[in-house]
Amino acid sequence: MEEFGSDRSPLPRNMIENSMFEEEPDVVDLANDSPSYPIDSPSYPIDSDDVVYEPRSSRLLVRGLGENDLDEDEEDYESSARLLGMSFMNRSSNQRSPASSYTRQQTPGSCSMPSARTMVVGVLILVLVASMAMVIYFLPGCTFTKSGCKKANSPMEKIYPISTSGELFPWTELRLPASVQPVQYNISLHPNLTSMTFQGNVSILVEVLQETKKIVLHSSDMNITKATFDSKDVKILEYKPWQQIAIKFTEDLQKGKYVLNFVYKANLSSRYDGFYISSYADTNGTKRVLAATQFEPLAARKAFPCFDEPAFKSTFLIRMTREPEYTSLSNMPKAKTTDLKNGLLEDEFEKSVKMSSYLVAFVVAEFSSVSKNVSKSTVSVYAVPDKKEQMHYALDTACKLLEFYNTFFDSDYPLSKLDLVAIPDFLAGAMENWGLITFRETTLLVGDHSSPIDKQLVTSVIAHELAHQWFGNLVTMRWWNDLWLNEGFATYMQYMSVETVFPELNMDSEFLSVRFKAFAKDVLNSSHPVSAIVNTPEQVEEMFDSVSYEKGASILLMLSSALTKEEFQKGLIEYLQTYKFANTESDNLWNSLTQVSKQPFNVAQMMNTWTIQKGFPLVTVKRNGTQVTLTQEHFLLNADNVTNDSLWHIPLTYVNDSCLNCTQVFHLRNKTATLKLPDQVKWLKFNYMSDGFYIVHYDEEGWRALIEALKADFKVLTHKDKASLINNVFALSRLGKVSFRQVLNLLDYIKNETETAPLTEALFQLGQIFRLLDKRSELNLASRMSSYIKDHFGSLMENQSWEQESSVSKMTLRAALLDMACSLDIANCSQKATLLFNNWLNLNKSSGIPSDLMTTVFKVAARTEDGWGVLLDTYKNSIYVPEKRKALVALASTQDVRKIIWILQRTLDGSMIPTPEFPLVVHTICKNFAGYLYAWDFVKENWDKIIQKFPIGSFAIQSLITSTTSHFSTKTHLMETQNFFNSLGERGSQMRVVQEAIETIKMNMRWIERNLETLQKWL
Ligand SMILES: [Zn+2]
Repeated sequence: MEEFGSDRSPLPRNMIENSMFEEEPDVVDLANDSPSYPIDSPSYPIDSDDVVYEPRSSRLLVRGLGENDLDEDEEDYESSARLLGMSFMNRSSNQRSPASSYTRQQTPGSCSMPSARTMVVGVLILVLVASMAMVIYFLPGCTFTKSGCKKANSPMEKIYPISTSGELFPWTELRLPASVQPVQYNISLHPNLTSMTFQGNVSILVEVLQETKKIVLHSSDMNITKATFDSKDVKILEYKPWQQIAIKFTEDLQKGKYVLNFVYKANLSSRYDGFYISSYADTNGTKRVLAATQFEPLAARKAFPCFDEPAFKSTFLIRMTREPEYTSLSNMPKAKTTDLKNGLLEDEFEKSVKMSSYLVAFVVAEFSSVSKNVSKSTVSVYAVPDKKEQMHYALDTACKLLEFYNTFFDSDYPLSKLDLVAIPDFLAGAMENWGLITFRETTLLVGDHSSPIDKQLVTSVIAHELAHQWFGNLVTMRWWNDLWLNEGFATYMQYMSVETVFPELNMDSEFLSVRFKAFAKDVLNSSHPVSAIVNTPEQVEEMFDSVSYEKGASILLMLSSALTKEEFQKGLIEYLQTYKFANTESDNLWNSLTQVSKQPFNVAQMMNTWTIQKGFPLVTVKRNGTQVTLTQEHFLLNADNVTNDSLWHIPLTYVNDSCLNCTQVFHLRNKTATLKLPDQVKWLKFNYMSDGFYIVHYDEEGWRALIEALKADFKVLTHKDKASLINNVFALSRLGKVSFRQVLNLLDYIKNETETAPLTEALFQLGQIFRLLDKRSELNLASRMSSYIKDHFGSLMENQSWEQESSVSKMTLRAALLDMACSLDIANCSQKATLLFNNWLNLNKSSGIPSDLMTTVFKVAARTEDGWGVLLDTYKNSIYVPEKRKALVALASTQDVRKIIWILQRTLDGSMIPTPEFPLVVHTICKNFAGYLYAWDFVKENWDKIIQKFPIGSFAIQSLITSTTSHFSTKTHLMETQNFFNSLGERGSQMRVVQEAIETIKMNMRWIERNLETLQKWL
């Protein structure tokens, strides 16, 4: 449910590159009784000295304390802060001038009154001095110079920034000039994994396309010791804020090719971008190190000076110096290895195809691998030797999907090798570097015995990254404003390809929740168009969000349904053929599809209404006999003071009771339109299978007819249609279009329901409301919601089997049902889970817990002192990646405050749990009442440390902010959130996600205001 900061938006399961850390179903955990334990207990794994962090606000803001009874007029920041013990109060008071409160005080009679004459003269002198000062101030600086000022009508001169050396930097924009472009890079690197530094030498063959006196390119955090241009030494100017370097020439460079060369040194990065170092412990506990890269979007410039924009495609030849025990990998196959006779070897890789700098990659590590040939390419999977057994599934899957894409795109993967590498310490979910895809271990490694639900995640991520080898790598967006061309497409293809190649994994239903997740983000006024204006590095980072990935994929699904599947595929093939090794904008794609389409509408005109305006439409359906009136408006929560004339071209689909399989299409282009039905019908359901990106509202009679039809026979609609009705009715109640009573009316049929999609959607929505009430300390209502869930889902929960299961759909359903049941302590769930956990322990942790129930079982076990200890041990020692991940979620779900703080500290500093898991840990903690305020305080207190590890605007930061603030629903928390982010200045106050967080809190407040009474009455 969106405005509660749905669990969907902070960590969308499908936002592959960024978010493969979310794991559990969206359910609540009501286990409020934290186990007490003796601090000095030897069995307790946490040393009491370890827990030094004491968040201030949370200590006061416990149930029933702290946030009530504020008089609105009297309430100001300070008083709220005092009430909350707000941690940032000190920061703000430090900034206040110590004298400020005394400025109006004056000692009476401390000086005598001057005479009137003295005062008049004094005032005159003051006026004169002030006038002269103003004249001098406002005169241009050129007035008193030899050359004088230019004429008034001359164009405004650019203001050049000052470079590090003090000279003027010759470029004034964030985007590089187009006059010079790279043709080929020769890059030699020598990383030293002991000193954590590297040396580089890069030669760039550049082509001057227009005569110019300067070359500007990117470079960041490196010490360039020598630079030459066509073998002559040149001076480098650097402007650090924009990560640019420049060479100035006295004469115009003529068109033609030249060679730039840089010799430089730099530190290996410690924050997961650029060329970074990471470490892990092997099964013997020995510390191992490796170096790897993560360049997208803006970090290739940290590894070598380069023209670091996606449109500057070039070829790359890479050489890597290494010690003999390490393996090195890069985008291309190894061409040769030279013994440097000093104990070091140098690997040289083949010259690459033409590609963007953000896709360059290299890894130096001690890895094992398995390989297979597909078509003309060798596919290999690499991982640390301890996890060699968990690589086979990924290898088989990658081979099958590569074959599928080769055929589907009618163009073979162009490289002779494709490596998939599991990096033990990796921030993104995965990264599609051409020929060298990097993954988290959790998104690539899975045992052969693992269940299909664990395999679903790995398959889905591989499918996404492989799709990028065409969409993103072969054809690339010109600039980051069209990131959705990469991400929306890869997300769409990931569901489409897995559904085709592995139908047993039930990805089609997963794709349905992708649309719901995209709605959740796009209802906000602070959302953005799919194709948005992007300039600063922070704005580039922020494009990696639900709109680019999930809304992008959703509007492509709508388009592919409006065209035929064959036309859609043909259009894609045409697009890839036309633009291979080049860059594109959205219009290029629409034109390719228009060329092959035989439909009576213009693809570009239709799709522009979906990509260049934010949000999505609400379609209202009013029926009078056979006449149906359709109206569209922008579905916008918090729409105060917003006048909106957005209009979409909607390919509306519908079915009715007389023919369930005859889908009709109506193109709604205007604000309103009338549709004439051929015959009388009992009911109409619009947005068939929820393939379109819009929400539908019916008149009273329309809703009544649908609800009655469902009550009479719940199979009358498809599972997707039922799930979308449930999703839509909750959204409409938040908008105030339907009452909560009507929501419950629709849900009345659910006791008969057996299908996964509608049941999990209903559970998700109810769970969100439960969590909001719980955190508002509306205990009576929360308990009534719990009873409602028990009443409507109890018998289904009781009837779930705890044995091994093979159907993914059944596993998804029971995982959601039982996780909710154990959280609410109903249906004997906790007892059964405990039994299973003990059994698993007795079997030496070797078997006994079905994989889909493992998180639920672990979470119940984590409630006890011993259980938590066992799980910590499992997390530290297990080599089975999915099991490790579930243990971590269980550890973070604890209700014990000390453990919560301990785990936050250990994850942020990376000492026990890798720092990339920090967003997952915070997200899990924030689900529960016990920890969400502590997590919020921890994030505030450690903000500077956090932004050193994760870039401002990045997905990790977006996730942290959403997780910590999305359950706030009081004015006090709203102000606290606003004040904290305002105080950040350049350290993050401008992020879009901050606006989203504020808007979400306001929506929660409004929802509570509107619905508390209704809930009291009807729940
Ligand atoms: Zn992607």
